[in-house]
Amino acid sequence: MQTKIWRMPAHKPDEELLEEAASFLKKGELVAFPTETVYGLGGNALDSSASRKIYEAKGRPSDNPLIVHISDINQIDELVRSIPPVAIKLMEKFWPGPITFVLPKSDKIPAVITGGLDTVAIRMPAHKIALKLIEIAGLPIAAPSANISGRPSPTTAQHVIDDLGGKIAGIIDGGKAGVGVESTVLDLTTPVPTILRPGGVTLEDLQKEIGEVHIDKGLIDANHVPRSPGMKYTHYSPKADVIIVKGSLTEMAEKILTITGEELGQGKKVGLMVSQELYELLKTDLPGSVLVEILGKKNNLAQVTSNLFMELRALDKEKVDVIYVENFPETYIGAALMNRLYKAAGGKTI
Ligand code: AMP
Ligand code: MG
Repeated sequence: MQTKIWRMPAHKPDEELLEEAASFLKKGELVAFPTETVYGLGGNALDSSASRKIYEAKGRPSDNPLIVHISDINQIDELVRSIPPVAIKLMEKFWPGPITFVLPKSDKIPAVITGGLDTVAIRMPAHKIALKLIEIAGLPIAAPSANISGRPSPTTAQHVIDDLGGKIAGIIDGGKAGVGVESTVLDLTTPVPTILRPGGVTLEDLQKEIGEVHIDKGLIDANHVPRSPGMKYTHYSPKADVIIVKGSLTEMAEKILTITGEELGQGKKVGLMVSQELYELLKTDLPGSVLVEILGKKNNLAQVTSNLFMELRALDKEKVDVIYVENFPETYIGAALMNRLYKAAGGKTI
């Protein structure tokens, strides 16, 4: 299949091009588009055959449900059976934005979208192109991240081309996605709202708004199965082994210098993903053959998060055997960052 590419600036959607992209969605074809979190792979959420195409293109396990994207709050009525007052409060505060709410699903949502669950995940993205596309299509759009299942999520159109080029009808190139990790998934069907996946809207943001918020045990304790089906799978992984380096800046620097020395001695190609500050400590002693990607400043975790998937993919392209990544604090957006890193590393730390 020839994949059509439409280019436009993120802040200035081109309605003529979006009409064409929307016409593909209305025909049941798949179109990838930018959102403020990562690129999504869109299909008509009311058409089960379009959803099946999404699972097929991504190689996604069929029990991992899709998030339904809307552009107007009025679209929600036909998608859910009921909306608790807390949902309305949170939607008013955080939508459009990087948070997805899990609510009881209506009969209009095909079972294939929710992986057979009785609930549906819904989000209104804060991206002009995404909102305009959904509005023009006049449909709720099912859109998981537009990557091959298991790979790091795409934050640029090129990442989508690398994974799905030739397999989908089109890709809207609107530049780099800002947040860089996927939305927060918040279950509103439990007595206390429960975070099933940390993301762009943080635990602290939610607590400030509604007080008590739980975190799914499956996210913290390896003995519990995560309630968000997607969280149980290997994820966000480049082809290389990923290992998280723990400790203070000086401890991390010492560990990295020792281990990279050993790995290079064994003929391995080594990549490093670190903050500017850790790099400053390392740079004089680090062997020149180590490939270094600087994620950003340590006190700017939003910047570090925004670059994470892009740098994982960049090191993958260089065909490194192993990637050592700095450990970051797990507060605010750092919770989402470290969740993705632990998944990418399969829990491996030194
Ligand atoms: P992605 O679209 O690739 O960002 O992944 C969507 C995430 O939302 C996955 O972790 C899914 O398991 C989760 N999700 C979607 N629908 C539901 C639902 N009804 N209940 C719980 N988790 C869901
Ligand atoms: Mg995904």
